[in-house]
Amino acid sequence: MSELPSDSCSGSHAWQLESFHRRLTERCGGPVVVRVNNNTSTLVSVRPGNPPVLSVHRIFLMCGDDVIRALAQYVRRPTDHCRRILRRFIREREATIGTATPRPPRLTLRARGRVYDLHALAEQVKAEHFGPELRVHITWGRGSTQRRSPRRHIVFGSFEHRSRVIRIHPVLDSADVPEFFVRFVIFHEMLHAMLDPEHDADGRRYVHTPEFRRRERQHPDYHRAREWENAFMRGDV
Ligand SMILES: [Zn+2]
Repeated sequence: MSELPSDSCSGSHAWQLESFHRRLTERCGGPVVVRVNNNTSTLVSVRPGNPPVLSVHRIFLMCGDDVIRALAQYVRRPTDHCRRILRRFIREREATIGTATPRPPRLTLRARGRVYDLHALAEQVKAEHFGPELRVHITWGRGSTQRRSPRRHIVFGSFEHRSRVIRIHPVLDSADVPEFFVRFVIFHEMLHAMLDPEHDADGRRYVHTPEFRRRERQHPDYHRAREWENAFMRGDV
């Protein structure tokens, strides 16, 4: 089980959180609930229980295996060694903490990539699954197009509600990436544009609601897109 904080709709992403959660539970050897926080002081905390609840700042969603190991140890029984690793990770990323304050939307949209024209693909996805009333912009995001192995986690897409901009990670602008996968990522982000987040009794906001998951699973490429993503993360494709 993994949860997003109440104000994390735009930019937050299933691919990122799910991968983090999967890596962590594998390391822990048992279930762990993950909560993502936007704290500026306590960036990591654990509430023991069955299952334990780990609260981490979003910077941890893109951490390496050494940090995942340290987090798993921290969940089981905090040691000086794992605390040192976590402190070092936080120190290295201090500059990026607190940048969650809204930035003005980037107005330069760049849809035509080297391999894929996002505008053309988005029009197809829209026609096939949503209809003309859906209004979104789409652009390649910023980020390295280098494919490293083993791969660090990558957010393939995001949707910003305020500007209604879908951003797709430029690593997908490659002939090695099948078109169905790019279309599936676009579909996922368009679903965010279509479906409103839900709130639970505590006011927590869920962007990947049961209805969202239901609609996502109905996509004909759902399974092969997940398989391709997993293979990509393993460095197999
Ligand atoms: Zn999502």
